[in-house]
Amino acid sequence: MARHAVVVGGGIGGLGAAIGLHRVGWQVTVLERAPELIAIGAGISLWPNAQRALTALGVAARIEPQHGGGLLDWRGRRLARWNADAYVRRHGLPLGAIHRANLIDALRSALPSDCLKTGVEVTSVEPDGVVHHASGSLEADLVVAADGINSPIRQSLYPSARVTYSGGAAFRGVARLPTTPQLSTTWAAGTEIGVLPLPDDQVYWWVSEARPAGIRHDDVREYLATKYASWHAPIPQLIAATKEILLHDTHHLATPLPTYVRGHVALLGDAAHAMPPFLGQGGCQALEDAVVLASAAATESTVDNALRRYDAERRPRSQHVARASIKAGASGPLLRNPVAVTLRAGLTRLLPATITTRVGSGISRWQPPVLTPAQPHTP
Ligand SMILES: Cc1cc2nc3c(=O)[nH]c(=O)nc-3n(C[C@H](O)[C@H](O)[C@H](O)COP(=O)(O)OP(=O)(O)OC[C@H]3O[C@@H](n4cnc5c(N)ncnc54)[C@H](O)[C@@H]3O)c2cc1C
Repeated sequence: MARHAVVVGGGIGGLGAAIGLHRVGWQVTVLERAPELIAIGAGISLWPNAQRALTALGVAARIEPQHGGGLLDWRGRRLARWNADAYVRRHGLPLGAIHRANLIDALRSALPSDCLKTGVEVTSVEPDGVVHHASGSLEADLVVAADGINSPIRQSLYPSARVTYSGGAAFRGVARLPTTPQLSTTWAAGTEIGVLPLPDDQVYWWVSEARPAGIRHDDVREYLATKYASWHAPIPQLIAATKEILLHDTHHLATPLPTYVRGHVALLGDAAHAMPPFLGQGGCQALEDAVVLASAAATESTVDNALRRYDAERRPRSQHVARASIKAGASGPLLRNPVAVTLRAGLTRLLPATITTRVGSGISRWQPPVLTPAQPHTP
């Protein structure tokens, strides 16, 4: 009889894990507290590592490859050219971007609909695999806690684990312009503005500002439109053309967890390693987690062995990427000192375009294990 996994959370990580486990022959139930799957956030960058993870999971998503662009200052003067061909030569795949709603749709379509139970809030989980929710409980051979950055399961297993403010707030939106711009990242003191083309001529943009947590605006668009009115095109145009602008303070796990596994419970995605968004890797790492967990579950003889392997493979890497994200924030949007900002711009101008594509090579080059689909069940 197929072993049964209960996945708590229907975000990128939970759906990815459910697809992987189902693909290797497990019976899977995803419990999601929201009444329907939601994708909060506008776009998302998918590095080559995440694209390989999606392929390993058999998920077909329309991802926009990035064809070129650059790092700019606020007037639009180029600090560095981003060489897309050199990037593909080095990483094997282009940098990609997708609308979050489309990513969630692609993941959901790769999972049989009867696996997913929405509107079910998990109230507690026992390390031996019993999952309690408002109207009952389920027994599982494996519980995947993919319940996000504020993971209630992590809080119950590691009461001392805390999330901390990452030092910046993120504004995000998706718009269409008469001409689709290329990828760009614009740096100024305490600010980064990113522009990423998405499929169907949509453009994802974000503004990352170094500032105290908790600041809110009566009119977010007005705030951004005024503050960035004199910045280079297409920044003011994108702000003006966006229907809904999201604003979130960003957080990450203050201290890395000593293990991602407790009994038959595996923490995955932001629940395990919530990182600041400065590298755009949180979702990518959740997809890596999903593939490795499914591979271990398929090939190890016991759940204990599978979870030991999952922890050994995923914890060092995802915690390394989390540390790299913190560093990227410190040298990116969180850098406020004007002298340091001028120095950064000067140094960046000296870099050959091919060198800029080396950034994050260790992250991009990840190769997923092969997931061998389970043979169809014959009665
Ligand atoms: C501003 C910003 C920009 C980002 N940009 C990128 C990017 O470009 N690229 C990238 O890869 N990553 C990016 N990230 C990170 C990425 O969004 C996250 O790492 C990713 O969404 C984590 O997925 P998850 O499945 O672990 O958690 P979530 O997406 O948070 O999903 C958790 C799910 O669990 C459910 N849940 C919680 N508690 C319960 C419960 N008790 N019972 C049932 N269900 C429950 C929630 O409703 C939710 O659906 C960004 C993050 C931010 C904040």
